Amino acid sequence: MTTSEQLFEKAKTLIPGGVNSPVRAFRAVGGNPIFIKSAKGPYLYDEDGRQYIELINSWGPMILGHAFEPVEKAVRDAVQYSFSFGAPTRKEVEMAELIVDMVPSVEKVRMVNSGTEATMAAIRVARGYTGRDKIIKFEGCYHGHGDSFLIAAGSGAVTMGVPDSPGVTKATAADTLTAPFNDLAAVEKLLINNQSQVAAIILEPVVGNMGCVLPEPGFLEGVRSLCDQYGALLIFDEVMTGFRLAKGGAQERFGITPDLTTMGKIIGGGMPVGAYGGRADIMNVVSPAGPVYQAGTLSGNPIAMSAGLAMLRHLQEHPEVYTRLEEIGTKLVDGFRAGLAKTGLTYTINHIGSMFTLFMTDRAVTNFSEAKTSDLALFGRYFQAMLKRGVYLAPSQFESLFLSVALSDDLVSQIIQANEESLQEALAG
Ligand code: PMP
Repeated sequence: MTTSEQLFEKAKTLIPGGVNSPVRAFRAVGGNPIFIKSAKGPYLYDEDGRQYIELINSWGPMILGHAFEPVEKAVRDAVQYSFSFGAPTRKEVEMAELIVDMVPSVEKVRMVNSGTEATMAAIRVARGYTGRDKIIKFEGCYHGHGDSFLIAAGSGAVTMGVPDSPGVTKATAADTLTAPFNDLAAVEKLLINNQSQVAAIILEPVVGNMGCVLPEPGFLEGVRSLCDQYGALLIFDEVMTGFRLAKGGAQERFGITPDLTTMGKIIGGGMPVGAYGGRADIMNVVSPAGPVYQAGTLSGNPIAMSAGLAMLRHLQEHPEVYTRLEEIGTKLVDGFRAGLAKTGLTYTINHIGSMFTLFMTDRAVTNFSEAKTSDLALFGRYFQAMLKRGVYLAPSQFESLFLSVALSDDLVSQIIQANEESLQEALAG
């Protein structure tokens, strides 16, 4: 038995399913999850001393590679002043200033402790601001595990086969309307059938949680103008795309201005951090400025703020990070495409910047039902073949990969080689 296997056996007796977040259990790909001991730059190291090249990067945050020195130093410097005060600090002001500066639509921002908290708060604010109850979300988008979002949700919710979770009340489900991604007509129909009832439309401007799915030309613009026409707020969930697809996220890259934005992952440099922000007149409904309540004992935690500030400052001061991420993404995806061609496969790769997914299907993937045409058994074998070759992928077809600038050209070539071999091994059965 490997140390990871021993740890998992014990974990299953103590933690539901042996893990603290479902996808980590490897249910969708089979085999035993790898227990990680440490990570540095582009590499993960497991409890058995094996090294892996990182293509998940903690599901996004480690965009500069693991244990990036300026972030590590900021945390070391901060801990000597104690770990939590539950009182305002200078760092929170600096963080807010930086976010407002970097993210085009954000005029005011509130820090929370996870992406889930950010999206839950954002819809409460939208409901409080508009006086309406319903929200529209898209099939296959994941916005954390808040009750309202576990309707037709992507990521772990689909991987684990619980798209509509027990424990969510019928009343909550009734307030969540869903449409297929990239389908403007479906959105308009919902708005017409629920006149003056929809508080907000929330979406991942580029979806990561049904695998990587891009907005078709005109889709984001269309959703923006439908929101304006029907008086609903537009919420961009940029927990994955924020500070990744550009310094100012997908909204900067696509030139669309949402009313509210939710953030997470990179914003904490790997620490548990989220944030929501947007137009000042909307954010001013948040307590104590306004009546919509939202709070947090550890919100704006000084250690987490120090890590996040070091990360965001580096990104702001080094635009070449984004140039390099584009370069790595293009090289890798070109290599994967060449590998598919050599293997005689016509599978779909969706790609933008440092996010991409190889879907085991010939269909174009523009929404969740198309993503679900993928051959999941083949994906499982491919995943295991990559792992054996020391490449750590997201353990599900319905996830995006996240690249970091720590990947050298040499490592990119190694991954391309592993991909080709793994495709052949997976096809052989
Ligand atoms: N929104 C999106 C788009 C996400 O990808 C995630 C998590 N992957 C969340 C919200 C929830 O964030 P967290 O896991 O930090 O609660």
